[in-house]
Amino acid sequence: MHAQLEALQEVLLMGPGPSTVPPSIYRALAQPTIGHLDPAFISIMDNLKEQLKELMGTNNALTLPMSGTGSAGMETCFVNLVEPGDRVLILANGVFGKRMQDVATRLGAEVEVLDFAWGTPVVVEEVAARLQEHPYALVGVVHAETSTGVGNPVEAIGPLVRENGALFLVDAVTSLAGMPVPVDAWGIDALYSGTQKCLSCPPGLSPVSFSERAVNKLQAREGRVPNWYLDLTQIVNYWSGEKRSYHHTAPINMLYGLCEALALVLDEGKDAVYARHRAAHAQLAEGLQELGLTFLVEEASRLPMLNAVEIPEGVDEAALRAALLNRHRIEIGAGLGPLAGKVWRVGLMGHTARPEYVERLLTALKAEL
Ligand code: PLP
Repeated sequence: MHAQLEALQEVLLMGPGPSTVPPSIYRALAQPTIGHLDPAFISIMDNLKEQLKELMGTNNALTLPMSGTGSAGMETCFVNLVEPGDRVLILANGVFGKRMQDVATRLGAEVEVLDFAWGTPVVVEEVAARLQEHPYALVGVVHAETSTGVGNPVEAIGPLVRENGALFLVDAVTSLAGMPVPVDAWGIDALYSGTQKCLSCPPGLSPVSFSERAVNKLQAREGRVPNWYLDLTQIVNYWSGEKRSYHHTAPINMLYGLCEALALVLDEGKDAVYARHRAAHAQLAEGLQELGLTFLVEEASRLPMLNAVEIPEGVDEAALRAALLNRHRIEIGAGLGPLAGKVWRVGLMGHTARPEYVERLLTALKAEL
């Protein structure tokens, strides 16, 4: 193997993603590469769609992993569902809500943003009031805002969006496989996620799901989807039907990894996986309290898998992260945007959400602070 790769040492990944990859996923990634139209591979693709539907709690036929990271999933939802002049409402309280605004604006949509303070959740009453004012084509919100550690009330927003007549688009990059995201029960019309968070796969794929209403909007478009690579009207011909036609060469081994990641979650049981994330968060919260550290976010809106921890007065935040990495082989994340220098982001995602890893971080923090 190349010397640079040979030299790599494992790091306990406790930042905002990627998370630590378990051994069976590494083994899955190293399985033999076969042809992307080989019947054995087509069968893995079909199985993947079923696994994703089960994890997402949906019967949506259009459920598949897009080739590309979470941002490709975001872009997929917008390029397929938004046409120039569409009125789009984004509920924003962090970096990834702002990214939605940017993506929708580039498509020529009439984008409105309802902003909420970073570190606080989207306020349902304010959303209800805005949705009373006029109909929208689409409303977008981030479920788990990785930049702040806030969980947004997706379940309560869904019925309001449905009443308005808009499509409901949800970013589940950080939430999927770490907390419930029942797509059908919550009235979600389009959802995208990523593999490197609570699925504990390396980055590179973005599972998406479109409801029947979303598919109807896609089929009724006046113009073609303005992006060739992410055009779902073409991609479905590769991912479904009796005869598959080439669109692009699927990232075959990455899909093996996702297949194994989904199997791990479904075998453990969704509820057990969510409970494990909550338990890891509670253990971290208790340990941080003993160290005198505080959270940015009020308890009711805190995510289990992403913890924004306030940096105490007089502590060099970058030096602490460097010490954790160099002396303890643990990675935690820095703050983003306006929260840079104000918080650390501690991820307890997927395979990382385990008591022994939380203990290892708390011990290292105690030694370094
Ligand atoms: N949305 C959220 C909530 C995220 O946390 C991220 C990545 O951290 C993204 C979107 C973008 O995903 P990626 O970096 O995989 O493109």
